[in-house]
Formats: sequence, C-alpha cells, structure tokens
Amino acid sequence: MATESLHGPNNPESGRTRTIFDPATGEAVGEAPVHGVEDLDRAVEAAAAAQPGWAALGHDARSAALAQAADAVDRSAEELSRLLSREQGKPLNGLNARFEVGACSAWLLHYRPIGVVGAIGPWNWPMMIAVWQIAPSLRMGNAVVVKPSEYTPLSVIALVDVLNQELPEGVLTAVSGGPEVGARMAEHPAIGKIMFTGSTATGKAIIKSSAGTVKRLTLELGGNDAGIVLPDADPKAIAEDLFWGAFINSGQTCAALKRLYVHDDIYEDLCEALTSVAAAARMGVGLDEESVLGPLQNKQQFDIVSRLVEAARDAGARVLLGGNPDPDQPGYFYPTTLVADIDNDNPLVAEEQFGPVLPIIRYRTVEEAVKMANALEVGLGASVWSANPEQARKVAANIQAGTVWINSHGAVHPMVPFGGMKQSGYGLEFGVEGLKALGVPQVING
Ligand code: NAD
Repeated sequence: MATESLHGPNNPESGRTRTIFDPATGEAVGEAPVHGVEDLDRAVEAAAAAQPGWAALGHDARSAALAQAADAVDRSAEELSRLLSREQGKPLNGLNARFEVGACSAWLLHYRPIGVVGAIGPWNWPMMIAVWQIAPSLRMGNAVVVKPSEYTPLSVIALVDVLNQELPEGVLTAVSGGPEVGARMAEHPAIGKIMFTGSTATGKAIIKSSAGTVKRLTLELGGNDAGIVLPDADPKAIAEDLFWGAFINSGQTCAALKRLYVHDDIYEDLCEALTSVAAAARMGVGLDEESVLGPLQNKQQFDIVSRLVEAARDAGARVLLGGNPDPDQPGYFYPTTLVADIDNDNPLVAEEQFGPVLPIIRYRTVEEAVKMANALEVGLGASVWSANPEQARKVAANIQAGTVWINSHGAVHPMVPFGGMKQSGYGLEFGVEGLKALGVPQVING
C-alpha cells in the first residue's frame, strides 16, 4: 500500500511527519503525520458537521454503509495486512496480520432483527411500559405482538390503534388476553423474544415456559426499593422528593421507594416533614383535575396493601398517617399511609406492597442500613439521600440494585440503561443496550 495514502486530507497543519521503521528489519516503512491540537479541533468540527446527515440516514442506510465498509476492507485486505505486518512486526500468517485485518471486517457485524417479539405488560403503567417494549423492538426491525395486562387492556389497545395509523399493516398487533395468552406467547415457536414486565413469580413462569424454544428474554420484574437517608440530610429539604419517590402512581410503580431507612439523629424530624407533605397530597378520582393520588388499580392489590398495613399495626408499629380505609367509600382508595418504628423483617417492609404506603425504618450506622437494604432477593432501584453527594455515591456503590439514585428516586431516561439485579430480572431496557437486546448480532465471516 502506498504510504502517501496516509497523507492527503490527513496532512497535519504543521506539515510534520515522522518516519516509521519496520521493527523486524529497521527499514523505513513510511512517513506518519504528526497531528497537533489544531488538527484535532478541525477533525472534531468536521465530524460534528457530518453527524446530523449520518444520523438522518436511518438505521438501514447506516447498516448498509457499514456492510460496504466491511467489503472495502476485504478488497484491500492484502495491502493492509502487508502494511500492518511491516509496521507492527507480526507475520502475515497464523493468528497475525491477515487474521487481524480479517477481524476488522468481521467486527463490522450487523444486528439482524429477531423476528416477532412478544410484549407482555403489567397494569401499573400500561401504556408507557408497552411503548418501552414496542418502540425498540420496531426500531430494530422486529414485528410486535403486545399483550396488555388483563386489568388494563383498553389503554394499550387504544395506543396500538393510534400507532397503527402510521405503521405498515401487521407490524404491531395487540392481543388482549389473560395469563393463558401470556403463557402461550412464552412457548410460541414463532416468537423469538419475550419482553416481559411484571411480577417476579410470573417472570419465573415465563422462564420455564420459554425453555422449550430457547427464547430470548428481557425480564423487568418486581422490586422493593430501599432509600437510605444519611444523617447529614436536611429533612425539610428532601421531604417532597422523598414523598414523590415513594407515592408516584399511588405507589404502584416498580421502581418506587418502598422502604425508607433513616438515621436515628434525624428520624423524628424526617417523619414530621414527610407527614406534612403526605397529608397535603390530595387523593381522589382520576378525572378530577385537583387529584394528585388515585385509587389502587384493583381489589387484589387493595387487599394486599390492607393486609400488610394490618401486619405492621399488629406488630406494634406506629402509624403516622392513614392506615384506615373508609369502608363506605366506593373504589379501591387506600389512604396515604406512613408507618414508623417498624422492624426490617415486618411483611410491610419485606414484601413488595405496591401501594400508597411507606414504612420508615430507623438505623444507627450506615453499614447497618446498607445491610438491611441488601437483605432482600430483589434489587431493582434504590436511593441515597445526603447533603454530600460524594459520600452518597460511596454508599450507593455498596447497594445491590440496578439503579441507585442520589437525592432523587425513580427517574428513567430513554438513553440510560435500566434493569434489575438479583430476582428483579435480567436484560436491560433503554439506551444502546436496550436496542442491542432486540437484535441478533450476526458475523458474516469470509
Ligand atoms: P403480573 O406478573 O401479575 O402480570 C403481568 C403480565 O403477565 C400480565 O399481562 C399477565 O396477563 C401476564 N401473565 C400472567 N401469568 C403469565 C404466565 N404464566 N405467562 C406469561 N404471562 C403471564 O404483574 P402485574 O401484577 O400486572 O404487575 C405488577 C408487577 O410488575 C409488580 O411486581 C411490579 O414490581 C412489576 N413491575 C416491574 C417493572 C420493572 O420495570 N421492573 C415495571 C412495572 C411493574
């Protein structure tokens, strides 16, 4: 290969070059440009100018361009191998120069769509979670069959109808069925992957029923997120964010704060601050513009929450607010409830209660708090609250959860990977990791 090809547009501003010598023979191989920071700035500027056009090409055109680039590497393979061999010293044959150039081409792999993706969702955020499953699946070239929770099928069907105004026929279909339809999806031979969001128990059932077809799975399962408030935190300053971290969607959120660990020094102050925020949050019918909290979605969930608060009361915990649903009120309204002086092994703490209730556990050392936070088999999210974010990050690194927020709880972003540790599931959603999980990497070698 002519060494001049290293120059041309790559010429440094200074015109400086450096001779490269063959480490095997001492012969000059060629002149390499010596770039300075001005050259770097020019290159970054050119890249920034070119990037919007590249992005606008779309997935297919970019994949095609990469495949063509791989072909170009193949066409020049012998010249490249010789240059590499001379500059680096490695022989042409064996696992050396030709092998390495071959790898350059092979690494320009592409992601094939999986085919048909089955999306099975829960009832707590039915539309949003459906989109989390549908959008990246379609983006990667798959077709999707989505099965909403039997508790909330209408919203997902309506969403799919809207999406289908713009999509080719057949690419996205909603099937509104119960657990048996979900189970069939998991074993269906023509479905290549299940995107599942729901309980850990159902996730385990899906693992079993998908085994026969060795299906790919992304499992976003149950959580029971811990929040740890360090002794230097200001209770009044954080009370509002703590409250919404726990009570978003009336607590029916997988990554909501469900167990709050508070240092003894600020325990009473924090209980007081949280109680005043919680007491002001208006719970009511959804279509009432003034409501900020709604009912539990179904009776089964109402019964679970009622049972767990009773268990706490029976064990002598102190109910700071709520805990007394009105039997005459229609609907599944459970009042905003705060429970203090509760043991870590009480069922209200240890089980995923999924309602507008927050148990507040007292701790005396940070090690003790971290140990309690890590004691469960789930690890979806967690948070650490402190006036010193650096200190909080150190604590966060010891918590077994897929996401640990500092001074907030529960925010997700389409570009930031999200997923659980331990029995909160496996596989990631969002970001590049999320997209890759909806394709099959394929290397075409040779
Ligand atoms: P669920 O597991 O009862 O139901 C979820 C879906 O699975 C429903 O569509 C249901 O019909 C289907 N299903 C039931 N049995 C099935 C089977 N054997 N095979 C296949 N599909 C089956 O969950 P839920 O009560 O609707 O949702 C609440 C749970 O979801 C909570 O545990 C919550 O933490 C979890 N969740 C997790 C995330 C996350 O991102 N990790 C997000 C939201 C909710």
